[in-house]
Amino acid sequence: MTALLAVDGLQVRYGGVVAVREVSFAVRPGEVVAVLGANGAGKTSTLRAVTGLVRPTGGTIAVDGSDVTGWPPERIARLGVAHVPAGRGIFGSLSVADNLRLGLYGAGADRSRAGAQRVDEVLATFPILAEKRRQPAGQLSGGQQQQLAIGRALVQAPRLLLLDEMSMGLSPTVVADLFAIVAGLRAQGIAVVMVEQFVGQALKVADSVLVLEQGRVVAAGAPDELSGDDVAAAYLGGGEASTPVVVPPPPADAREGVRVDLGGRDIRELERLAAARGTTVSALLEGSVAGLLEGAR
Ligand code: ATP
Repeated sequence: MTALLAVDGLQVRYGGVVAVREVSFAVRPGEVVAVLGANGAGKTSTLRAVTGLVRPTGGTIAVDGSDVTGWPPERIARLGVAHVPAGRGIFGSLSVADNLRLGLYGAGADRSRAGAQRVDEVLATFPILAEKRRQPAGQLSGGQQQQLAIGRALVQAPRLLLLDEMSMGLSPTVVADLFAIVAGLRAQGIAVVMVEQFVGQALKVADSVLVLEQGRVVAAGAPDELSGDDVAAAYLGGGEASTPVVVPPPPADAREGVRVDLGGRDIRELERLAAARGTTVSALLEGSVAGLLEGAR
């Protein structure tokens, strides 16, 4: 089957900074791909290259087997590729309904009856947006604004949705609702590429995972093919913000893993401690957990 999206050897440079190096991956129709990695790993640049917001400096991007490298964003959008940027890009002074209507312009001006119908369909999918359709979008909660951002992309009737950090700054309950929306999109056959910091949730919904570190793919595969170390290593690469780390890799018979949120400073302290003891952070943490459990018995 021809991939819906095929990225091959992608490179993105900003002046002297190489943000993305030789990144390759494919997305089949209806597939959910999670892109993981520490701050600055090149996740956003990869998405922006796919949607045409930055021009790749190397490699190719194909949609349905046709080369779209270097195409402008609106032309790529017309192929059914929609983008929900980090920070959501909501217009706070416009009404919820007007924000949704703006999505129609992303895929070419479409003020037809079909366009209006798509806005109504999205409102039917997100009852809270229907309830608040006449209110300024700035009055919505963070989770509701994220629903609006996703809804605005959905009015384009996309086949591929690129979701950048949809969970950022939201509570776990709200995030769980958003992941349920992603699962619903997948059930409708819409492919999703999501950049996500909520690693545990992303691994549950994703069909495949791409781990980036300093612009390169350092691990890729189905979630059950990746070890906790593959994912943790990417997050230990750096970053000031609190980044989720998966520790320790769950034993084969465990029903669920454990996720601990650590800040960049804590991570560096752990790295120093591990280096001083001649071990790895994972081994250090596993040893500590074993010690704690032993003490509790
Ligand atoms: P984050 O989660 O922090 O957004 P990321 O994995 O999405 O990280 P990118 O935003 O793609 O990573 O950034 C990759 C690298 O490119 C970083 O070193 C970043 O500083 C740099 N970079 C990103 N955008 C620009 C830009 N417009 N101009 C110059 N450098 C940039």
